[in-house]
Amino acid sequence: MSENVHVADGINLTSTEVHCPSCGGTIGVTFDPVSNTLHCPFCGTSTKLPEPDSAPVVQELDFNAAVQRASVNWGKIKKLVECSNCGGQALYDAEQVTGACPFCGSTSVTSAAENSQIMAPAAIIPFDVPRDQAQQCWMNYLNRRHCVAKKAYECKLENITPLYLPFWTFDSYTIASYIDELHYSDFNGNHWSKYFKGVWGHNFDDLVIFASDKIYHPFISRVQTFDFEKSLPYSPEYLAGIPAERYTVGLNDAWERAKKLMPRTIEQEIRKYEKKLHGGYPLTPKYACSHYNVKFRYLLAPIYLATYKYGKNTLRVAINGQTGEACGDVPTYLLKMILLFILLGIVLLGLSVGLIYLSAQLNQRTGINLLF
Ligand SMILES: [Zn+2]
Ligand SMILES: [Zn+2]
Repeated sequence: MSENVHVADGINLTSTEVHCPSCGGTIGVTFDPVSNTLHCPFCGTSTKLPEPDSAPVVQELDFNAAVQRASVNWGKIKKLVECSNCGGQALYDAEQVTGACPFCGSTSVTSAAENSQIMAPAAIIPFDVPRDQAQQCWMNYLNRRHCVAKKAYECKLENITPLYLPFWTFDSYTIASYIDELHYSDFNGNHWSKYFKGVWGHNFDDLVIFASDKIYHPFISRVQTFDFEKSLPYSPEYLAGIPAERYTVGLNDAWERAKKLMPRTIEQEIRKYEKKLHGGYPLTPKYACSHYNVKFRYLLAPIYLATYKYGKNTLRVAINGQTGEACGDVPTYLLKMILLFILLGIVLLGLSVGLIYLSAQLNQRTGINLLF
């Protein structure tokens, strides 16, 4: 194959199309595997990449400076309120009287010290689902579940509280320089490996990191699938009368989390690409990532929290304010559940008996033994 250039000690070069980190161009960008450098003929920049088997390069992004520059103007005076029961922190309009914590319903809320400036969001996903449709969203969820106790359908949601959740989103052009080992074997039982060195670029767009660390509600994480492409530039009107949860995961921590998510995508892409190009079975590549043109946004997304009474218990519900997706505590009908399990057991038993019978037949006729 023409793209395999012998480099050294059995390592071959895989040529891939990577954007120049400096000007974004692709035409004529070459990779020199010996110096591990990208050359761009268009802008003349040479970019040294970290060696694939080197320790991760600490790329300091000056988020602190970015945070300093970022706007802390929410458009209205906001008051930070903290709940002494669950620890949740939310921002309210200053004139809005706050009686209860939006997360847990406790009334022991106090104004928190406002020594820290809280960055204002750059974007917001407005509520698409009106408050009076929350009950219907919840019913839709119950209808999709099995073994729901009949009385649960009669329960009305209470304390339906709209709330904005905090997210960070990141854009990054991430380049990985890698060495991938591909395994080959033939029908005679011979095995061998080939090594390929290359670079891979992936444009991450709006990688989303939840900006709250508080585990005050069991169902928020289950309804967090927002369409971030539909976000709008932030405007204070969206927050009129609706509290916004304060971010507790800072920008730097969020970026560390984002960086841990990227390798999964990159690894899969490298393996798929190498397999397509060179056949064989690709192992997990050794690689080191560099990140270019990193941009971030602080964004708010809408949710409803609610409760309902079931017997003596108060059960909790969360509803996505953009999509209407719901999740919550569901009382189930125990007897029905047990029957379902028994039925499942019978089916599994039937299947395994059938399998044993089939393999015994196969063994008798061909001598091939599948089970032992
Ligand atoms: Zn360039
Ligand atoms: Zn609370």
